[in-house]
Amino acid sequence: MTFNELGLGPSLLKNLSDAGYTAATPVQAQTIAAALAGGDLLVSSQTGSGKTAAFLLPLLQKLTPNASVARKSRARFAPAEPKALVLAPTRELALQVMAAAEKYGVRGQGLKAVAILGGMPYPKQMQLLAQNPEILVATPGRLIDHMASGKISFAQLEVLILDEADRMLDMGFIEDIEKIVAATPATRQTLLFSATLDGLVGKVAQRITREARVIRVASSAAARAKIEQRLHRVDDSQHKGRLLDYLLRDAAIDQALVFTATKRDADRVAGELSVAGFAAAALHGDMHQSVRNRTLDALRSGRLRVLVATDVAARGIDVPTISHVINYDLPHSPEDYVHRIGRTGRAGRAGLAVSLVGHAEGITVRNIERFTRQPIAVDVVAGYEAKKSAVPVRAKPRRAPPRGAPRSEGRYAKPAPKAAANSGAKRERYAGR
Ligand code: ADP
Ligand code: MG
Repeated sequence: MTFNELGLGPSLLKNLSDAGYTAATPVQAQTIAAALAGGDLLVSSQTGSGKTAAFLLPLLQKLTPNASVARKSRARFAPAEPKALVLAPTRELALQVMAAAEKYGVRGQGLKAVAILGGMPYPKQMQLLAQNPEILVATPGRLIDHMASGKISFAQLEVLILDEADRMLDMGFIEDIEKIVAATPATRQTLLFSATLDGLVGKVAQRITREARVIRVASSAAARAKIEQRLHRVDDSQHKGRLLDYLLRDAAIDQALVFTATKRDADRVAGELSVAGFAAAALHGDMHQSVRNRTLDALRSGRLRVLVATDVAARGIDVPTISHVINYDLPHSPEDYVHRIGRTGRAGRAGLAVSLVGHAEGITVRNIERFTRQPIAVDVVAGYEAKKSAVPVRAKPRRAPPRGAPRSEGRYAKPAPKAAANSGAKRERYAGR
C-alpha cells in the first residue's frame, strides 16, 4: 500500500519519498489509518517492521494544524505541556525515535520534539523543556524525576505512545509507567506497541487503554524461517581472514553476505577472497551507483558467490539464495545485527548467521543476545581455535581477575583443546543466559 492512500499530508509524503520509502510496511498500512481515525490501539509486530513510522506519521499529521500557536501563548515559567508523549525503554531507542521524527519532518510540520533521557545533563533538559515541545520522547525513569519537580504537565496531552512496551515491563518500569499514565487525561488516545501482547503486557494494556483495537501483524518469512546463529572467537584480523576462508569453503553455502565495519575493509576482504579464488565482490557507499547495480545483478544471477558489504550498502538486499551471513565485524547495535541476519533465511529457507567475535567484544554479544532474546551458540573449528583466552563476559569490566583465578569460567572460555580436536568441528551451545 502506498502512503498516499493512508491520509497523510503532502509534506509528510514528500519526506517519505525523500527517505526512499516507496510503500508502507504491513504494520504501517494497518496502524496509520486507524491511529488517524482516533481510538486506542494495541499493536504487535516484529522488530524491523517499521513501527516507528507507524506511530510517528499519524502523530505528526494530527498535531500539525495549531502547532505554533500553542507555543507562543504561554507564560515564562510555566511547565512544558506536551501534546504527545512517546515512552521508550532505553536511551538508544528513544534517540532512534527522535532521529526518525527528524527524518519524517517534525520541523517541516512546525512541531518541536525533545528527548528526556537518563544520562543527559539536567540544565540541558530544563532548556529543552522550556521550549514547550509538542512531542516529548522519554525513558520512564527520567521522566518521573521531571514530573516530580513540576517541570512537565500532561494536562494537554492528547496522545500517549508506548514503544516496545514488553521491554519496558521486562526492565521493571511498570510502576513508573502506571504513575505516568495516571498523570495523563483520561481523554487521551493510547497507542501501545509490543513484540507480544501476551502475559503481563496484555494485562497492563487492558488497564491503560479503552476499547482498544488490536492489530497483530504476522511475522515475515525472515522471522519465521529458522536462522541459526553461531559465533567464533578470534584473536586478530589475520585469524579472522583464515577462519573466513575456511567458513566460505563450506559446500552448504549457496551465497554468502559478509559484513565489515568499514568500506576499506569491505574492499580489502573482497580483494583477498578474490585472490583466494572466490567469486567475491565488495558493496559499499563509495562505489558508483552503476557499479553497485552491476554487483547486485551479479549476486542475483548467481555469478557472485560472496558479497562483502557494509551495513548501509546492504540495506534492502533481498536475495533468497543468500544462505549465509557472516559478521566479519560485529555491528554497532543489536538492531543492525537483526537486520543483517535477516538477509538470510528469506523465502522460507533456512539460514545461518556466523559472527567472528574478538576477545573484547563479549559485551556486544551479550547486548545482541538480550535484544533478540536468543542465545548465540559458540562454535569452534579444530585448527582454527582462538589462542588467547577470552575476557569473561560476566566479570565486571576493568577489574582484573584475582591472580591465579581460573579464567575458564567465562562464557567465551577457551574449550579444552583435546575435546575440540577429538570431535572435529565441535559445537558448543552454552546453557545459561
Ligand atoms: P521497528 O520499530 O518495528 O523495529 P523501525 O521503525 O525501527 O522498526 O524500522 C526499521 C527500519 O525500516 C528503519 O531503518 C526504517 O527507516 C525502515 N523503514 C520503516 N518503514 C519503511 C518503509 N515504509 N519503507 C522503507 N523502509 C522503512
Ligand atoms: Mg521500534
